Amino acid sequence: MRNMILALVLLGSGMSTAASAQGSRQRVEWNRPMAPFRIAGNVHYVGTKGLGAYLITDPKGHVLIDGGLPESAPLIAANIRALGFDLRDVRYLLINHAHFDHSGGLAELKRLSGARLVASAGDRADLESGQVAGRPELPSAPPVKVDRVVGDGEQLRLGATVLTANLTPGHTRGCTSWSMRTDAGTILFACSLTVAGQNLIDDPVYPNAADDFRATYAKLKGMKADIFVNFHPEFFDLEGKRARQQAGDGDAFVDPGALQRQIASAERGFEKELAAQRAQRTSR
Ligand SMILES: [Zn+2]
Repeated sequence: MRNMILALVLLGSGMSTAASAQGSRQRVEWNRPMAPFRIAGNVHYVGTKGLGAYLITDPKGHVLIDGGLPESAPLIAANIRALGFDLRDVRYLLINHAHFDHSGGLAELKRLSGARLVASAGDRADLESGQVAGRPELPSAPPVKVDRVVGDGEQLRLGATVLTANLTPGHTRGCTSWSMRTDAGTILFACSLTVAGQNLIDDPVYPNAADDFRATYAKLKGMKADIFVNFHPEFFDLEGKRARQQAGDGDAFVDPGALQRQIASAERGFEKELAAQRAQRTSR
């Protein structure tokens, strides 16, 4: 029933029947439950099998990055409780980017926790409207109010925890990669680096998307991360790393080469997509 409603909603937003059926299958896949666990230091995985969410705990209060889909919110909340933490101790909600599969659960998680939502200026309007401007083909998310806007390099402090906002636009106008120190080195919670349907040539809402992608790749090439994670776990083999961790490898998530490999792969995909979009324009 829920899938049928979803299909109708997607149809209403202009998607084809086949695309909406595929979309609802994808959502079910993404939202499969996953048992929460500690990655390193005070960083915990509380997301689903297919959508990342991270809880950073501190005696002064916790930070939760991302909310997954709207239907992920109860799973994330249950994962936080299963680790023995109280949702009402979450002080800040952060978001990697304002697409429905990451921001969808924020409104409910904000209601349950009473936390303040911190986001970049570039993603603010899309979070608050629940729809990405200029991308009517994307499913919507429940609108959620941004309580604090962060700029590039700005730090968020809670007790001994210091998170830095690194603006890495391209995938969305406000794509934000958060970073922090753990006892196992620096961890980067990377925003999505893929094109994912973004018009790179003449998008009226986001005309400089291609330039932003290039600047983001250049910026990240200058950064170092001992632990790379993002919000689509298959990109960094979360399940494989977790299995190695469970088998006794305490440093299973430490992989200092991962960031540069991720950038190289994303950049290849971007150049290919840019060439394809250019070819499509000239053949019209
Ligand atoms: Zn996205």
